[in-house]
Amino acid sequence: MTASRYPDTRLLIDNEWCDAASGKTLDVHNPATGEPIGKVAHAGIPDLDRALAAAQRGFETWRKVPANERAAIMRKAAGLVRERAADIGRVLTQEQGKPYAEARIEALAAADIIEWFADEGRRVYGRIVPSRNLAAQQLVLKEPIGPVAAFTPWNFPINQVVRKLAASLATGCSFLVKAPEETPASPAALLQAFVDAGIPKGVIGLVFGNPAEISSYLIPHPIIRKVTFTGSTAVGKQLAAMAGQHMKRATMELGGHAPVIVCDDADVALAVKASGGAKFRNAGQVCISPTRFLVHNSIKREFAEALVKHAEGLKLGDGLAEGTTLGPLANTRRLQAMSKVLENARAKGATIATGGDRVGSAGNFFAPTVLTDVPLEADVFNEEPFGPIAAIRGFDTLDEAIAESNRLPYGLAGYAFTRSIKNAHQLSQEVEVGMLWINQPAAPSPEMPFGGVKDSGYGSEGGPEAMEAYVVTKAVSIMAV
Ligand code: NAD
Repeated sequence: MTASRYPDTRLLIDNEWCDAASGKTLDVHNPATGEPIGKVAHAGIPDLDRALAAAQRGFETWRKVPANERAAIMRKAAGLVRERAADIGRVLTQEQGKPYAEARIEALAAADIIEWFADEGRRVYGRIVPSRNLAAQQLVLKEPIGPVAAFTPWNFPINQVVRKLAASLATGCSFLVKAPEETPASPAALLQAFVDAGIPKGVIGLVFGNPAEISSYLIPHPIIRKVTFTGSTAVGKQLAAMAGQHMKRATMELGGHAPVIVCDDADVALAVKASGGAKFRNAGQVCISPTRFLVHNSIKREFAEALVKHAEGLKLGDGLAEGTTLGPLANTRRLQAMSKVLENARAKGATIATGGDRVGSAGNFFAPTVLTDVPLEADVFNEEPFGPIAAIRGFDTLDEAIAESNRLPYGLAGYAFTRSIKNAHQLSQEVEVGMLWINQPAAPSPEMPFGGVKDSGYGSEGGPEAMEAYVVTKAVSIMAV
């Protein structure tokens, strides 16, 4: 497939694309080649001040637009994203590396998410509470919280923005996002669809720059009323602390270390297909990626052999090349991280059943890797690898597998495979995660909650809970006079 021209990205303030006041830019690289492909504007404080003032004005406008009119603009934007999905997908692959098919699906899924939230925004109901004094009427009103500051990472450059954007817009908030500097053009294409759909000025804004400088300016700023972040647990804890210090509502979608429990009665072929597919999607750079494969000892060998076969069947290459099913890692930091994880696993005595090394010297290619007999002390069993590495250990009882699942401080996603309804009930009650998928790959949809527990964060980015995160509750009592 031919690459479309990769665009430079500027800042979006008041529906205008503009350079940073300083003129500063950063280079953007293609992870399949390592070559620079474009530039992104690097905002400074004067740009942030303009973006904040625009967000304040945008909020005053947008909160007064009736929900059905907001929904109409959102639906129009969703239609444009769907129409442009092929082009957006090509841009996304060039900057992030994932196979084009995955990139296009990410754009199409964004359209679906926008539409779901547009409709949900028409159903943000308050309530009437019977009063103890019949002369009074008691109302519970749900109002938009105010301008939102969002911080999103590079692994799903569109998806991580759109859940926050759609919930903000559906509830009547304005939205200012610091999107990833490494993958700026696909989130810009998403926001362009809203500009083209007629969103009023100031309602959406997009900036890039130094992440720590931007978050430490926006979070405490009095204009910002809500903070939402997706990224690592370490950074999330810093931002949550800052939000707490300034009494800002926060949603934190952080790291995970998903267990995959494969019981002795599991359909092994299904378990391999579903968890192998989920493991290597986006080269494992997914917060809900399956990581700790806990397989009943009676089927461990069969499962490991089949997972190795699955991994070896993947076609590693440039995401725009025909037939590629596994792209490069998104940046060189991930390559270094993979080497470190592998070195540690080797030293701790794990067996490398397949993969284990970088492939080639141009681009960030890393072979899909399956480790077996992984000791509990190996880093890969304790820290999120965020790459294409599956680590397998055996277990004898379900209680043992559940205890291992719950051992780490993370609690984002979990997977299990069993034909027993008894096991399924026990798993659903005892595994400490925000999302559990049984006998299937990850299936996040806008109507279902999306978020974690423990060190994986708090708040939800799906379902009615996601809307709730962007509204405040006001109690009003009107006494007849
Ligand atoms: P990182 O922890 O420095 O950055 C992660 C994300 O947070 C990036 O988008 C970055 O721009 C942003 N960020 C970092 N410091 C920030 C700050 N002070 N204020 C605002 N935003 C800030 O490291 P990285 O190398 O980009 O990614 C490494 C790790 O991050 C991964 O191993 C993974 O655990 C985690 N991560 C998680 C997700 C997710 O979907 N939950 C996505 C990307 C990265």
